Amino acid sequence: MLNKKNFYINGKWVKPDSEKEIKVINPANEDVCTLITLGNKKDIDTAVSAAKEAFKLWGYSPKEERIDYLEKLYTLYKQRWDDFTNAIVLEMGAPKEFASKLQVGAGAAHIKSFIKYLKEFNFDKPLNDHLANQRIIYEPKGVCALITPWNWPMNQVCLKVIPALASGCTMVLKPSEIAPLSSMILAEIIDEVRFPKGVFNLVNGDGATTGEALSRHSDIDMISFTGSTRAGALISQNAAKDFKRISLELGGKGANIIFKDAKPDAVEKGASRCFKNSGQSCNAPTRMLVEKTIYNETIERVKKFTLNLKVDHPSKEGNHIGPVVSDQQFKKVQILIQKGLDEGAKLIAGGTGKPEGFQKGYYVKPTVFADVNNKMEIARTEIFGPVLSIIPFEDEEEAIEIANDSDYGLANYIQTQDKEKANRIARKLRSGMVDINGAGLAVDSPFGGFKHSGIGREAGKEGLLEFLEVKSVGGWAN
Ligand code: NAD
Repeated sequence: MLNKKNFYINGKWVKPDSEKEIKVINPANEDVCTLITLGNKKDIDTAVSAAKEAFKLWGYSPKEERIDYLEKLYTLYKQRWDDFTNAIVLEMGAPKEFASKLQVGAGAAHIKSFIKYLKEFNFDKPLNDHLANQRIIYEPKGVCALITPWNWPMNQVCLKVIPALASGCTMVLKPSEIAPLSSMILAEIIDEVRFPKGVFNLVNGDGATTGEALSRHSDIDMISFTGSTRAGALISQNAAKDFKRISLELGGKGANIIFKDAKPDAVEKGASRCFKNSGQSCNAPTRMLVEKTIYNETIERVKKFTLNLKVDHPSKEGNHIGPVVSDQQFKKVQILIQKGLDEGAKLIAGGTGKPEGFQKGYYVKPTVFADVNNKMEIARTEIFGPVLSIIPFEDEEEAIEIANDSDYGLANYIQTQDKEKANRIARKLRSGMVDINGAGLAVDSPFGGFKHSGIGREAGKEGLLEFLEVKSVGGWAN
């Protein structure tokens, strides 16, 4: 078994103060794959104080120096690609090919993109061209608490650690206690690059003890959090008392609006997008809204697609889906599938229980409900498993109304070949992201949501700005 009990604090791996342990479980077979330490308040104090001390120099370091460190980090990240892949397969059950191309690939793409934006970014510029003594300076926000979930581990960690490093912030990362292994590899890389001590620190632990101690700490200037809306609300309350800056990337319940003039493969692609990563993506299109004139044929197509979708072991090659991440997640998904049945939605594929041949591991049957009403719990709650709800609509106006009738507002999807209609609807959807006809969003498109889906944006230039304060100076000497 791997020994992963130490924390990375002040430039070295150290024995934690806490002696409490957390088991990291392999969701594919329910075996314990490693033990990590559950960091206590003293561990957090030590890490925050190292980050605070390091900020005195790193916060004023030249941009060229930070570019140099990040380029070395990017080189090492690519060299450790297979290690990251194996860690993600083990900790969260993502199938090998998917873990390598998309999970590890997303982290690499963000590192590359942030280096580009850092090179282009002007941290110090005149306000305009006719008031020579007015200056705008972008400064790092300070000591950051970075708290991440398990579902896209390297994507989410790189969306925080890299812009924090690029902007001159120092940080304490607390990765998900469910999937901490890939983050520990990143800490090894940061150690190898020899970033100044204290700039980056990693403390493992759960939300209630370690995350809470971190988000309450009075020396933290900013909290960047990705995770559930429940934890996001608690973190906001902790942050409010001393006006910590916050960035929250929370849940979603995306609508995929399918019109009769959608592209020929839009239905299958929509279902596939929902089931990818075993349905464990905040931006998954989990509500398929279908124009009534094509409703019955669409149900048949989704049924056929879902019955052909393979569930299999994550260590196997192929484009199957793996298990969900944990026993808790498995049980939550089962309860919600049962809820859909109880609410009277029409089950057209899947259902409760494990797929045939899988007794061990947290495998879920890809499940589709038709005739879902948007008031039903399965249409309102983020299930975070391979479960799709199909909802009929009459016309454009009703589709927009159903899509927007959600507490969430992260990502919505439109399928029509009428370009004007697509653009018109995109403007009316109350979400941070809209994808038309499966075009996808670029790696540097701002990522984030409206309403209960969070506050702030990650990725690209917006993601860098999240870690910067703006200072106005009058009387600047030229
Ligand atoms: P979670 O909220 O349970 O945990 C996320 C992280 O927060 C973990 O590190 C956890 O230890 C920590 N945490 C939990 N409670 C805390 C508290 N009170 N104080 C401080 N830290 C706390 O979420 P999860 O189950 O790990 O992840 C799934 C959720 O993440 C889903 O709701 C999903 O939609 C969301 N998510 C959002 C995005 C986005 O960008 N919008 C991306 C991925 C995942």
